[in-house]
Amino acid sequence: MPDIYDVIVVGGGNAALCAALSAREHGARVVVLERAPEDKRGGNSAYTGGGFRMVHTGVETVRSVVPDLSEGEIANTDFGAYSAEEYLDDLGRVTQWYCDPDLAEAVVRNSTETVQWLHGRGVRFVPRFGRYAFKHEGRFKFFGGTVVEAAGGGRGLVQAEYTAAQKHGIEVRYGAQAIALIRGRGGIQGVRIVANGEEEELRSRAVVLASGGFEANREWRTRYLGPGWDIAKVRGTRYNTGDGIRMALDVGAQAYGQWSGCHSVSWERYAPDFGELDRPIVASRNGYPFSIMVNGEGKRFVDEGADFRNYTYAKYGRIVLEQPGSYAWHVFDSQVEHLLHEEYRSKGTTKVQADTLEELVARMEDVNPPEFLRTVREYNASIRRDVPFNPNVKDGRSTVGLAIPKSNWANAIEKPPYSAYAVTCGITFTFGGLKIDTTTQVLDIADAPLPGLYAAGELVGGLFYYNYPGSSGLMAGAVFGRIAGREAAKYAKQ
Ligand SMILES: Cc1cc2nc3c(=O)[nH]c(=O)nc-3n(C[C@H](O)[C@H](O)[C@H](O)COP(=O)(O)OP(=O)(O)OC[C@H]3O[C@@H](n4cnc5c(N)ncnc54)[C@H](O)[C@@H]3O)c2cc1C
Repeated sequence: MPDIYDVIVVGGGNAALCAALSAREHGARVVVLERAPEDKRGGNSAYTGGGFRMVHTGVETVRSVVPDLSEGEIANTDFGAYSAEEYLDDLGRVTQWYCDPDLAEAVVRNSTETVQWLHGRGVRFVPRFGRYAFKHEGRFKFFGGTVVEAAGGGRGLVQAEYTAAQKHGIEVRYGAQAIALIRGRGGIQGVRIVANGEEEELRSRAVVLASGGFEANREWRTRYLGPGWDIAKVRGTRYNTGDGIRMALDVGAQAYGQWSGCHSVSWERYAPDFGELDRPIVASRNGYPFSIMVNGEGKRFVDEGADFRNYTYAKYGRIVLEQPGSYAWHVFDSQVEHLLHEEYRSKGTTKVQADTLEELVARMEDVNPPEFLRTVREYNASIRRDVPFNPNVKDGRSTVGLAIPKSNWANAIEKPPYSAYAVTCGITFTFGGLKIDTTTQVLDIADAPLPGLYAAGELVGGLFYYNYPGSSGLMAGAVFGRIAGREAAKYAKQ
């Protein structure tokens, strides 16, 4: 008789590890199948900044997961508060109200408790100073809904989760690629894998799929996201090729969510094709709300200051991809250069600098100089200079009368030295996937559960459409991973 696990978890990122820890906590014998080798484990989760978007009431909630918050930090910080209603509203608003309300409700209502649960399993959290709170007049003020991140970012998160898995006796197989689900009379009863070039069958009473989206699959990107997506850069892991989604569709699961949509950002133009695990966000270019973005024709094409970065960055990659040649430049002057994160200064950044705009554009590869100079002139002349610039709030310092407005942070490009950074589109993860119910059971086309099959993480469809509120991916993966582990364990024990 072959070994029978209670629960097989497919994938080795945040959603998978939450599922494994939770299933184990509920008494299940668990194996985690990670396609990547051990030194590349952790999927996109390992590439993240580790941010979790949770409901919070300010310093009390932050303290519950950051117990060593110092008195000085408390005195100098306004954490604000983020209610369940605001979270639901953000999810609805940025997804143009397509977001599945039941799934959204489950993520939001379980968010705080799930971060506390992770903290209880050894994940350390720290406040997100820097990226989500600028110091203004001596005080940090958080904006955009996210206040904590895992210590050590995504790598720290994944490391802590694997340490917990080991401590709780969870088996992990690296280099094990799941290729198919095994169906028996009662439902899903295992997984076919390829390990060391050989096929094997692993038997179980339940399976949790948590193997990410299809962002690293060039062919599927082109097929589902559309023409041009084959050349997008992949920000994270190369192992998320949609296997879990395909395996579930093959046994009758329902495709759900926005299959033509994805999370994509401004990314270093000449970055490698896939992410670099040692330098995960080095190619990020998130300072654009303080810039003007121009395309090769020298024209602006998007409202750079429409909202906080956290609510626009995930949809602006697509807009860059749609520009002629699929590139753009972020242009700053010296008044805002200090607001740019360190990745703008990292090795491998395509940057040009000059003391005049004429010299600057001469150095900006593939940009039309007369049009660029006209764009800057018109933009500078359109700014409401009576409104003060403030990076911590939507300051309303906007342009007036431009065909493409800039709604906030309209800083004139007028104080040399000027700088410009070349970007293209970097894809983060895909939005389409499987349909689950709020207990994470995978549903078939008649909305009936496929017995023994659960799913969590990026491969779940229905949460994100067109856009995404920053730091909801890890949160959703943790919430549904935790539920999936519990439900799969309960099912296995029946
Ligand atoms: C650069 C970057 C920064 C980000 N920053 C943040 C952030 O700060 N906050 C946030 O919330 N989100 C962030 N995200 C998004 C976040 O990464 C995802 O939402 C989240 O990590 C998804 O977790 P997951 O477990 O579903 O998938 P992943 O972490 O991608 O895990 C999928 C796993 O499945 C494995 N796998 C794939 N196919 C198979 C197979 N056939 N068999 C076995 N295993 C398989 C992979 O190797 C991987 O281990 C960021 C993403 C990137 C790329």
